Amino acid sequence: MKVVELSGGVGGARMAVGLARLSTVDLTVVVNVGDDEEIHGLHVSPDIDTVTYTLAGTQGPEGWGRTDDTFKVNTELARFGLDNTFILGDLDLALNLFRTNRLATGATLSTVTDEVRSSFKIASTLLPASDNRLRTEVMIAEENWISFQEYFVIRQNRDLVMDIRFSGAGSAAAAPGVVESIQQADHVVIAPSNPPLSIWPILAIEEIRSAVVSHSNVTAVSPLIGGKTLKGPADRVMASLGLPNGNAGVAKAYEHLVNRLMIDSVDRIDVDKIESVEAVSTDIRIKEPEDAERLAREIVGL
Ligand code: GDP
Ligand code: CA
Repeated sequence: MKVVELSGGVGGARMAVGLARLSTVDLTVVVNVGDDEEIHGLHVSPDIDTVTYTLAGTQGPEGWGRTDDTFKVNTELARFGLDNTFILGDLDLALNLFRTNRLATGATLSTVTDEVRSSFKIASTLLPASDNRLRTEVMIAEENWISFQEYFVIRQNRDLVMDIRFSGAGSAAAAPGVVESIQQADHVVIAPSNPPLSIWPILAIEEIRSAVVSHSNVTAVSPLIGGKTLKGPADRVMASLGLPNGNAGVAKAYEHLVNRLMIDSVDRIDVDKIESVEAVSTDIRIKEPEDAERLAREIVGL
């Protein structure tokens, strides 16, 4: 069975582990590139790397970066007066050096992503949403737009998000294989990622949105449990963008896009309240790969 997952970073990577563990599933993960940034002259793709490291079982303790990494280079950068708030571990830097050099010699982001995937012996297909430049930007005061990483990492996502936009999305093409894999998929899964900040930038590419809208079997997994995010600012950002609280807001964020929304058993009261999609309650907390696998099996069995 062919499954395509739309993914951000940590939440998406956790879901991907579950789908990848199912022997009957041929998995393609389409990953957000709106968080990409140039840092110290390097092309950093945080969500692609989080998915890669997690599928390889070598993710860091917080879910991003590498397990057992050291931070010598990052610390040393301060000597030169450089802002090292965006932490890149030494092993992580090696990957970013490789990617940046490959891109500089004309390779596409898709090609480099696949080379890295192969080096980590990951069997699933990993595709960036686009090979073109697409950047999420956040409005934190009237007409004051900042880059996603300035909002998220440098300013530690404390600002009220008044609006978001996806710079470059209007002219960005889906990366090779993205639209075809969605069209050919038996099932499209929208990961429990941050809906506005991780999934909307993927759907901002019109041909991806149309392929998802046309698909008849799309399941989203809620990133909220008891109305709260497990990590990051999804609940706050959804509220400040005017979406309803809790799973109703997730359903609204994916209106006309999904057929089904997986919500947590603690929120089972929402099953009858949500009308725009079919809500299904189960345990959607992913602590261990086994939890992800069980959830993945439930989703593809629907
Ligand atoms: P980021 O790009 O690294 O910020 O990560 P994502 O956007 O992919 O995922 C962030 C979201 O994942 C947060 O809103 C979390 O609530 C959600 N999340 C993290 N762990 C879990 C989990 O175990 N289950 C569910 N349902 N959501 C989770
Ligand atoms: Ca991200």
